[in-house]
Amino acid sequence: MTNELNPSKRLLMGPGPSDVHPRVLRAMTTPLLGHLDPEFLKLMNETKDLLKVVFQTENKLTIPMSGTGSAGMETVFVNLVEPGDTVIVGVNGLFGQRMVDVAERCGATVIEVTAPWGEIIEPTAIEKALKQNPSTKLVAVVHAETSTGVMQPLKELSKIVHVHNALFVCDMVTSIGGIPTEIDDNDVDAAYSGTQKCLSAPPGLAPVTFNHRALEAMANRKTKVQSWYLDLSMIQNYWNDERFYHHTAPITMVYSLREALRIILEEGLENVYARHKRFGTALHSGLEAMGLELLVKKEHRLYQLTSVLIPNGVNDLEVRKQLLAKYGLEIGGGLGELKGKVWRIGLMGYNATQTNVTQFLAALEDVLR
Ligand code: PLP
Repeated sequence: MTNELNPSKRLLMGPGPSDVHPRVLRAMTTPLLGHLDPEFLKLMNETKDLLKVVFQTENKLTIPMSGTGSAGMETVFVNLVEPGDTVIVGVNGLFGQRMVDVAERCGATVIEVTAPWGEIIEPTAIEKALKQNPSTKLVAVVHAETSTGVMQPLKELSKIVHVHNALFVCDMVTSIGGIPTEIDDNDVDAAYSGTQKCLSAPPGLAPVTFNHRALEAMANRKTKVQSWYLDLSMIQNYWNDERFYHHTAPITMVYSLREALRIILEEGLENVYARHKRFGTALHSGLEAMGLELLVKKEHRLYQLTSVLIPNGVNDLEVRKQLLAKYGLEIGGGLGELKGKVWRIGLMGYNATQTNVTQFLAALEDVLR
Protein backbone atom coordinates (compact mmCIF):
# COMPACT_ATOMS: atom_id res chain seq x y z
CA MET A 1 0.00 0.00 0.00
CA THR A 2 1.21 3.52 -0.67
CA ASN A 3 1.11 5.79 2.39
CA GLU A 4 -1.47 8.42 3.16
CA LEU A 5 -0.32 11.79 1.85
CA ASN A 6 2.04 13.44 4.33
CA PRO A 7 4.43 15.87 2.59
CA SER A 8 7.23 17.59 4.51
CA LYS A 9 6.58 21.04 5.92
CA ARG A 10 7.75 23.74 3.51
CA LEU A 11 7.95 27.49 3.38
CA LEU A 12 7.32 28.31 -0.28
CA MET A 13 9.42 31.42 -0.95
CA GLY A 14 10.05 30.80 -4.63
CA PRO A 15 8.32 32.28 -7.68
CA GLY A 16 5.10 30.38 -6.93
CA PRO A 17 3.20 28.48 -5.90
CA SER A 18 3.35 30.28 -2.58
CA ASP A 19 1.87 28.99 0.66
CA VAL A 20 -1.89 28.80 0.71
CA HIS A 21 -3.65 30.76 3.46
CA PRO A 22 -5.00 28.34 6.12
CA ARG A 23 -8.50 29.80 5.69
CA VAL A 24 -8.31 29.02 1.97
CA LEU A 25 -7.29 25.45 2.74
CA ARG A 26 -10.25 25.17 5.12
CA ALA A 27 -12.62 26.53 2.46
CA MET A 28 -11.38 23.78 0.16
CA THR A 29 -12.63 21.06 2.51
CA THR A 30 -16.21 22.35 2.19
CA PRO A 31 -18.53 19.74 0.66
CA LEU A 32 -19.30 20.21 -3.00
CA LEU A 33 -22.38 21.86 -4.38
CA GLY A 34 -23.50 21.00 -7.90
CA HIS A 35 -22.14 23.35 -10.53
CA LEU A 36 -25.69 24.48 -11.41
CA ASP A 37 -27.01 24.53 -7.82
CA PRO A 38 -28.61 27.94 -7.11
CA GLU A 39 -26.38 28.24 -4.03
CA PHE A 40 -23.29 27.71 -6.15
CA LEU A 41 -24.50 30.25 -8.69
CA LYS A 42 -24.69 32.79 -5.87
CA LEU A 43 -21.12 31.93 -4.85
CA MET A 44 -20.04 32.43 -8.48
CA ASN A 45 -21.58 35.90 -8.54
CA GLU A 46 -19.89 36.79 -5.27
CA THR A 47 -16.55 35.55 -6.61
CA LYS A 48 -16.92 37.68 -9.75
CA ASP A 49 -17.76 40.75 -7.66
CA LEU A 50 -14.78 40.21 -5.34
CA LEU A 51 -12.51 39.67 -8.34
CA LYS A 52 -13.58 42.97 -9.88
CA VAL A 53 -12.61 44.80 -6.69
CA VAL A 54 -9.21 43.08 -6.47
CA PHE A 55 -8.51 43.62 -10.18
CA GLN A 56 -9.66 47.25 -9.64
CA THR A 57 -12.12 47.22 -12.50
CA GLU A 58 -15.78 47.61 -13.34
CA ASN A 59 -15.42 45.21 -16.29
CA LYS A 60 -18.49 42.95 -16.43
CA LEU A 61 -16.52 40.18 -18.07
CA THR A 62 -14.26 39.38 -15.11
CA ILE A 63 -14.23 35.67 -14.37
CA PRO A 64 -11.87 32.88 -13.31
CA MET A 65 -11.00 30.49 -16.14
CA SER A 66 -10.43 26.82 -15.30
CA GLY A 67 -6.71 26.15 -15.49
CA THR A 68 -3.48 27.80 -14.39
CA GLY A 69 -2.07 31.19 -15.40
CA SER A 70 -1.07 29.87 -18.83
CA ALA A 71 -4.74 29.05 -19.49
CA GLY A 72 -5.43 32.71 -18.74
CA MET A 73 -2.75 33.70 -21.24
CA GLU A 74 -4.25 31.44 -23.92
CA THR A 75 -7.76 32.70 -23.13
CA VAL A 76 -6.75 36.27 -23.87
CA PHE A 77 -4.88 35.44 -27.07
CA VAL A 78 -7.27 32.88 -28.58
CA ASN A 79 -10.26 35.15 -28.02
CA LEU A 80 -8.68 38.40 -29.24
CA VAL A 81 -6.36 37.23 -32.01
CA GLU A 82 -7.33 35.84 -35.40
CA PRO A 83 -5.05 34.35 -38.04
CA GLY A 84 -3.23 37.13 -39.92
CA ASP A 85 -3.47 39.70 -37.11
CA THR A 86 -0.36 41.64 -36.15
CA VAL A 87 0.58 41.45 -32.49
CA ILE A 88 3.41 43.25 -30.67
CA VAL A 89 4.81 41.54 -27.59
CA GLY A 90 7.25 43.08 -25.10
CA VAL A 91 9.84 40.41 -24.33
CA ASN A 92 12.11 40.95 -21.33
CA GLY A 93 11.78 37.55 -19.72
CA LEU A 94 10.37 34.05 -20.02
CA PHE A 95 6.70 34.97 -19.87
CA GLY A 96 6.99 37.50 -22.68
CA GLN A 97 8.58 34.71 -24.71
CA ARG A 98 5.64 32.44 -23.84
CA MET A 99 3.17 35.08 -25.07
CA VAL A 100 5.03 35.17 -28.41
CA ASP A 101 4.65 31.39 -28.72
CA VAL A 102 0.94 31.50 -27.84
CA ALA A 103 0.23 34.40 -30.24
CA GLU A 104 2.06 32.60 -33.07
CA ARG A 105 -0.03 29.50 -32.44
CA CYS A 106 -3.11 31.72 -32.96
CA GLY A 107 -1.78 32.52 -36.44
CA ALA A 108 -0.62 36.04 -35.59
CA THR A 109 2.33 37.80 -37.14
CA VAL A 110 4.28 38.59 -33.99
CA ILE A 111 6.65 41.50 -33.60
CA GLU A 112 8.92 41.19 -30.59
CA VAL A 113 10.06 44.33 -28.80
CA THR A 114 12.88 43.11 -26.64
CA ALA A 115 14.78 44.44 -23.64
CA PRO A 116 17.53 42.77 -21.62
CA TRP A 117 16.21 40.40 -18.92
CA GLY A 118 16.03 42.51 -15.75
CA GLU A 119 15.03 45.73 -17.51
CA ILE A 120 11.64 47.20 -18.44
CA ILE A 121 10.22 47.50 -21.95
CA GLU A 122 10.67 51.16 -22.90
CA PRO A 123 7.44 52.81 -24.10
CA THR A 124 9.40 54.50 -26.90
CA ALA A 125 10.39 51.08 -28.27
CA ILE A 126 6.73 50.01 -28.39
CA GLU A 127 5.82 53.33 -30.01
CA LYS A 128 8.45 52.78 -32.71
CA ALA A 129 7.12 49.27 -33.42
CA LEU A 130 3.56 50.61 -33.62
CA LYS A 131 4.62 53.30 -36.10
CA GLN A 132 6.31 50.66 -38.24
CA ASN A 133 3.27 48.37 -38.01
CA PRO A 134 0.22 50.65 -38.14
CA SER A 135 -2.31 47.81 -38.43
CA THR A 136 -1.27 46.20 -35.13
CA LYS A 137 -4.27 44.74 -33.33
CA LEU A 138 -2.81 44.15 -29.90
CA VAL A 139 0.19 44.98 -27.74
CA ALA A 140 1.02 42.73 -24.79
CA VAL A 141 3.45 43.11 -21.90
CA VAL A 142 4.10 41.35 -18.61
CA HIS A 143 3.26 43.57 -15.63
CA ALA A 144 5.21 41.53 -13.07
CA GLU A 145 7.86 39.44 -14.87
CA THR A 146 8.38 36.52 -12.48
CA SER A 147 11.44 35.28 -14.35
CA THR A 148 13.35 38.49 -13.54
CA GLY A 149 11.56 40.50 -10.82
CA VAL A 150 10.81 43.52 -13.03
CA MET A 151 7.75 45.71 -12.50
CA GLN A 152 6.63 47.12 -15.85
CA PRO A 153 5.09 50.63 -15.67
CA LEU A 154 1.79 50.59 -17.59
CA LYS A 155 0.25 54.06 -17.81
CA GLU A 156 2.40 55.60 -20.52
CA LEU A 157 2.43 52.39 -22.55
CA SER A 158 -1.35 52.17 -22.40
CA LYS A 159 -1.70 55.71 -23.78
CA ILE A 160 0.70 55.01 -26.65
CA VAL A 161 -1.06 51.76 -27.56
CA HIS A 162 -4.47 53.46 -27.64
CA VAL A 163 -3.23 56.39 -29.75
CA HIS A 164 -2.44 53.69 -32.32
CA ASN A 165 -5.87 52.06 -31.91
CA ALA A 166 -4.52 48.76 -30.65
CA LEU A 167 -5.62 46.72 -27.65
CA PHE A 168 -3.47 46.77 -24.52
CA VAL A 169 -3.03 43.35 -22.89
CA CYS A 170 -1.21 42.64 -19.61
CA ASP A 171 0.02 39.49 -17.91
CA MET A 172 -0.91 40.03 -14.27
CA VAL A 173 -0.24 36.53 -12.97
CA THR A 174 2.20 37.72 -10.31
CA SER A 175 0.83 41.23 -9.84
CA ILE A 176 -2.73 40.53 -8.71
CA GLY A 177 -2.98 40.91 -4.92
CA GLY A 178 0.64 42.07 -4.66
CA ILE A 179 0.90 45.41 -6.43
CA PRO A 180 -1.88 47.64 -7.80
CA THR A 181 -3.27 46.28 -11.09
CA GLU A 182 -5.64 49.26 -11.63
CA ILE A 183 -7.17 47.76 -14.75
CA ASP A 184 -9.53 50.69 -15.31
CA ASP A 185 -7.16 53.43 -14.26
CA ASN A 186 -4.39 52.01 -16.47
CA ASP A 187 -6.93 51.47 -19.26
CA VAL A 188 -5.89 47.84 -19.75
CA ASP A 189 -8.16 46.18 -22.31
CA ALA A 190 -7.58 42.59 -21.24
CA ALA A 191 -5.57 40.92 -18.51
CA TYR A 192 -5.07 37.45 -17.07
CA SER A 193 -3.70 36.21 -13.78
CA GLY A 194 -3.32 33.16 -11.58
CA THR A 195 -4.33 32.07 -8.12
CA GLN A 196 -1.07 30.60 -6.80
CA LYS A 197 1.02 33.72 -6.29
CA CYS A 198 -0.13 36.76 -4.27
CA LEU A 199 -3.71 35.49 -3.93
CA SER A 200 -2.40 32.66 -1.70
CA ALA A 201 -4.68 30.02 -3.21
CA PRO A 202 -3.51 26.87 -5.02
CA PRO A 203 -2.75 26.84 -8.75
CA GLY A 204 -5.85 25.96 -10.74
CA LEU A 205 -7.77 29.09 -11.75
CA ALA A 206 -6.84 31.95 -14.06
CA PRO A 207 -8.83 35.13 -13.37
CA VAL A 208 -9.29 37.18 -16.55
CA THR A 209 -10.88 40.54 -17.29
CA PHE A 210 -11.97 42.19 -20.57
CA ASN A 211 -13.19 45.76 -21.14
CA HIS A 212 -15.54 47.23 -23.75
CA ARG A 213 -12.83 47.47 -26.46
CA ALA A 214 -11.88 43.83 -25.97
CA LEU A 215 -15.56 42.80 -26.08
CA GLU A 216 -15.97 44.71 -29.33
CA ALA A 217 -12.93 42.98 -30.83
CA MET A 218 -14.40 39.60 -29.86
CA ALA A 219 -17.80 40.53 -31.27
CA ASN A 220 -16.17 41.53 -34.59
CA ARG A 221 -14.30 38.25 -35.07
CA LYS A 222 -14.58 36.73 -38.51
CA THR A 223 -13.36 33.31 -37.45
CA LYS A 224 -14.33 30.89 -34.71
CA VAL A 225 -12.13 30.89 -31.58
CA GLN A 226 -9.65 28.08 -32.21
CA SER A 227 -10.03 26.60 -28.70
CA TRP A 228 -13.37 25.10 -27.68
CA TYR A 229 -12.45 24.96 -23.99
CA LEU A 230 -11.37 28.61 -23.73
CA ASP A 231 -13.99 30.18 -26.01
CA LEU A 232 -15.42 33.05 -23.98
CA SER A 233 -18.46 33.42 -26.22
CA MET A 234 -19.66 30.15 -24.65
CA ILE A 235 -18.08 30.38 -21.18
CA GLN A 236 -19.65 33.81 -20.60
CA ASN A 237 -23.05 32.16 -20.81
CA TYR A 238 -22.25 29.97 -17.83
CA TRP A 239 -20.93 32.88 -15.73
CA ASN A 240 -23.77 35.27 -16.65
CA ASP A 241 -27.49 34.89 -15.93
CA GLU A 242 -28.04 32.31 -18.67
CA ARG A 243 -26.15 29.62 -16.73
CA PHE A 244 -25.64 27.42 -19.78
CA TYR A 245 -23.55 24.35 -19.08
CA HIS A 246 -20.17 24.54 -20.83
CA HIS A 247 -17.78 22.48 -18.70
CA THR A 248 -18.03 21.40 -15.07
CA ALA A 249 -16.73 24.26 -12.95
CA PRO A 250 -13.91 23.26 -10.56
CA ILE A 251 -16.14 23.87 -7.53
CA THR A 252 -13.43 23.54 -4.87
CA MET A 253 -11.17 25.99 -6.69
CA VAL A 254 -13.98 28.52 -6.85
CA TYR A 255 -14.44 28.11 -3.08
CA SER A 256 -10.71 28.69 -2.64
CA LEU A 257 -10.63 31.81 -4.80
CA ARG A 258 -13.67 33.31 -3.09
CA GLU A 259 -12.06 32.87 0.33
CA ALA A 260 -8.67 34.17 -0.90
CA LEU A 261 -10.31 37.33 -2.25
CA ARG A 262 -12.34 37.80 0.92
CA ILE A 263 -9.14 37.67 2.98
CA ILE A 264 -7.46 40.30 0.79
CA LEU A 265 -10.41 42.66 1.03
CA GLU A 266 -10.70 42.16 4.80
CA GLU A 267 -7.12 43.43 5.09
CA GLY A 268 -7.82 46.15 2.53
CA LEU A 269 -6.14 46.46 -0.88
CA GLU A 270 -4.01 49.44 0.13
CA ASN A 271 -2.79 47.61 3.26
CA VAL A 272 -2.01 44.50 1.22
CA TYR A 273 0.08 46.53 -1.25
CA ALA A 274 1.81 48.38 1.60
CA ARG A 275 2.69 45.08 3.30
CA HIS A 276 4.27 43.69 0.11
CA LYS A 277 6.22 46.92 -0.33
CA ARG A 278 7.40 47.04 3.28
CA PHE A 279 8.66 43.46 3.46
CA GLY A 280 9.89 43.35 -0.14
CA THR A 281 11.99 46.41 0.54
CA ALA A 282 13.21 44.88 3.81
CA LEU A 283 14.31 41.80 1.87
CA HIS A 284 16.14 43.92 -0.71
CA SER A 285 17.98 45.82 2.03
CA GLY A 286 18.82 42.60 3.90
CA LEU A 287 20.27 40.96 0.78
CA GLU A 288 22.32 44.05 -0.06
CA ALA A 289 23.54 44.25 3.54
CA MET A 290 24.87 40.70 3.05
CA GLY A 291 26.93 42.02 0.13
CA LEU A 292 24.69 40.46 -2.53
CA GLU A 293 23.67 42.23 -5.72
CA LEU A 294 20.10 42.43 -7.04
CA LEU A 295 19.39 41.91 -10.74
CA VAL A 296 16.89 44.74 -11.17
CA LYS A 297 17.60 48.39 -10.48
CA LYS A 298 15.70 49.89 -7.57
CA GLU A 299 13.00 51.83 -9.42
CA HIS A 300 11.83 48.80 -11.41
CA ARG A 301 11.93 46.14 -8.71
CA LEU A 302 8.96 44.04 -7.73
CA TYR A 303 8.38 43.58 -4.00
CA GLN A 304 6.80 40.13 -4.28
CA LEU A 305 9.61 38.58 -6.38
CA THR A 306 13.27 39.43 -6.04
CA SER A 307 16.10 38.17 -8.24
CA VAL A 308 19.49 38.17 -6.55
CA LEU A 309 22.72 37.41 -8.39
CA ILE A 310 24.46 34.22 -7.28
CA PRO A 311 27.94 35.19 -6.04
CA ASN A 312 30.92 33.87 -8.00
CA GLY A 313 32.05 30.45 -6.86
CA VAL A 314 28.78 29.60 -5.10
CA ASN A 315 26.98 26.45 -6.20
CA ASP A 316 23.39 27.36 -7.11
CA LEU A 317 21.87 23.91 -6.68
CA GLU A 318 23.77 23.11 -3.49
CA VAL A 319 22.49 26.27 -1.77
CA ARG A 320 18.90 25.60 -2.77
CA LYS A 321 19.25 21.94 -1.72
CA GLN A 322 20.53 22.97 1.71
CA LEU A 323 17.83 25.58 2.23
CA LEU A 324 15.25 22.89 1.53
CA ALA A 325 16.89 20.16 3.60
CA LYS A 326 17.86 22.25 6.64
CA TYR A 327 15.08 24.82 6.73
CA GLY A 328 12.26 23.39 4.60
CA LEU A 329 12.60 26.61 2.63
CA GLU A 330 12.03 26.67 -1.12
CA ILE A 331 13.36 29.43 -3.37
CA GLY A 332 13.58 29.44 -7.16
CA GLY A 333 16.52 29.21 -9.52
CA GLY A 334 16.96 31.26 -12.67
CA LEU A 335 15.01 30.50 -15.84
CA GLY A 336 16.15 30.72 -19.45
CA GLU A 337 19.19 32.93 -19.83
CA LEU A 338 19.30 33.55 -16.06
CA LYS A 339 19.64 29.82 -15.26
CA GLY A 340 22.47 29.38 -12.76
CA LYS A 341 22.88 33.16 -12.49
CA VAL A 342 20.14 34.22 -10.05
CA TRP A 343 17.97 33.00 -7.21
CA ARG A 344 14.36 34.11 -7.18
CA ILE A 345 12.80 34.82 -3.83
CA GLY A 346 9.07 35.22 -3.47
CA LEU A 347 7.24 37.12 -0.75
CA MET A 348 3.74 36.60 -2.01
CA GLY A 349 0.42 37.21 -0.29
CA TYR A 350 0.17 35.31 2.99
CA ASN A 351 3.95 34.79 2.90
CA ALA A 352 4.85 38.50 2.81
CA THR A 353 5.73 38.82 6.50
CA GLN A 354 8.61 40.12 8.59
CA THR A 355 9.10 36.64 10.10
CA ASN A 356 9.65 35.11 6.67
CA VAL A 357 12.11 37.83 5.64
CA THR A 358 14.13 37.35 8.82
CA GLN A 359 13.97 33.56 8.61
CA PHE A 360 15.07 33.54 4.99
CA LEU A 361 17.98 35.95 5.49
CA ALA A 362 19.22 33.95 8.48
CA ALA A 363 18.92 30.66 6.57
CA LEU A 364 20.72 32.03 3.51
CA GLU A 365 23.49 33.48 5.65
CA ASP A 366 23.92 30.09 7.27
CA VAL A 367 24.11 28.06 4.06
CA LEU A 368 26.44 30.58 2.39
CA ARG A 369 28.84 30.48 5.35
N1 PLP B 1 2.90 34.57 -16.43
C1 PLP B 1 3.68 34.83 -15.37
C2 PLP B 1 4.20 36.21 -15.16
C3 PLP B 1 3.99 33.80 -14.49
O1 PLP B 1 4.77 34.04 -13.43
C4 PLP B 1 3.48 32.50 -14.72
C5 PLP B 1 3.84 31.39 -13.82
O2 PLP B 1 4.81 31.43 -13.09
C6 PLP B 1 2.67 32.30 -15.84
C7 PLP B 1 2.40 33.35 -16.67
C8 PLP B 1 2.12 30.95 -16.14
O3 PLP B 1 1.29 30.51 -15.12
P1 PLP B 1 1.11 28.96 -14.78
O4 PLP B 1 2.44 28.39 -14.49
O5 PLP B 1 0.20 29.03 -13.57
O6 PLP B 1 0.44 28.33 -15.93
